[in-house]
Amino acid sequence: CWPRLKRQRIGGRSDLFRECRGEHCSPADLTVRSAFPGKYPARQTPDGRAMLAPTKRLPNRNRKRNFMRIVVKVGTSTLAHPGGLLNIRHTEDLVRVWSDIQNAGHQLIVVSSAATGLGAGKLQIEKPGDLVTKQAAAAVGQCELMYTYDRLFGQYNHTVAQMLLTWEDFDHENRLHNLQNTLERLLQLHAIPIINENDPVACEEYSLGDNDTLAALVAKCIHADLVVLMSDIDGLYTADPHTHPDAKLIPVVEEITPEIELLAGGAGSALGTGGMLTKVTAAKRATEAGVDMIITNGAHAEVLYDIVEGKPVGTRFVGRKA
Ligand code: GLU
Repeated sequence: CWPRLKRQRIGGRSDLFRECRGEHCSPADLTVRSAFPGKYPARQTPDGRAMLAPTKRLPNRNRKRNFMRIVVKVGTSTLAHPGGLLNIRHTEDLVRVWSDIQNAGHQLIVVSSAATGLGAGKLQIEKPGDLVTKQAAAAVGQCELMYTYDRLFGQYNHTVAQMLLTWEDFDHENRLHNLQNTLERLLQLHAIPIINENDPVACEEYSLGDNDTLAALVAKCIHADLVVLMSDIDGLYTADPHTHPDAKLIPVVEEITPEIELLAGGAGSALGTGGMLTKVTAAKRATEAGVDMIITNGAHAEVLYDIVEGKPVGTRFVGRKA
């Protein structure tokens, strides 16, 4: 029996607990290990069912007021050359700056693309066109990606953790809960989570999935302070800068209006730039959850220093205040 998750108010607190669907769960099935035993021991409902530890963000002694929890997303075009080989310069620069930001006390969560691209490079095949080859390439490239991160972050004494997610993980309450707990624990342990979509099993990846949205979903579920999309463009422009040399960078977007969506390549736009629509859609998700999102150029890793100092970089989408 797969126990059902239920929410119940007990003693003024709302909690999740597992409930047998009627097919004789063993006590072990219903027992929930607390992710934070010292702080929140697993508790029991009066009738003996185990309850999950609360999901709220835990106070971290090492996080001081001015330190941020930042989700940085980096795209394939930054990490890999067009042929699928690692862009050593960009990747080394990024890992060096990220490590330094982490050393300064901020918490970093990296959402990294490039599994498919690096896999194709390693297999010495053209960029795959069909889904199965893409997924096979992603399975190869994900190893390459993590090997690279492990090696580079290791030089700065940082520990990385791989998390491969699918959309279902955000859709199902119990999976989301486990995901939040694991991420929180990794951050408490000062490990740097490296997240990608679980491409070999996620068909949606190639039809509607993108890691911009994944970064926004992750930021929302762990109550991040900021999402930074490190892209191959400096930010959102008033027109496509490739075809309009006079296009101006928009430094701040207070509200994502239909006009902004149109600039990003929404329906009817003649100015659409590749991938900008998914970024603005991700910005909508992040800002609705109260999280600021910045689009900046991943080729300039050091801009992250300015970003954490609050200096204007790229385009900032301002999170909705509660
Ligand atoms: N998850 C894909 C990969 O690692 C990339 C998705 C995206 O580019 O947003 O290859």
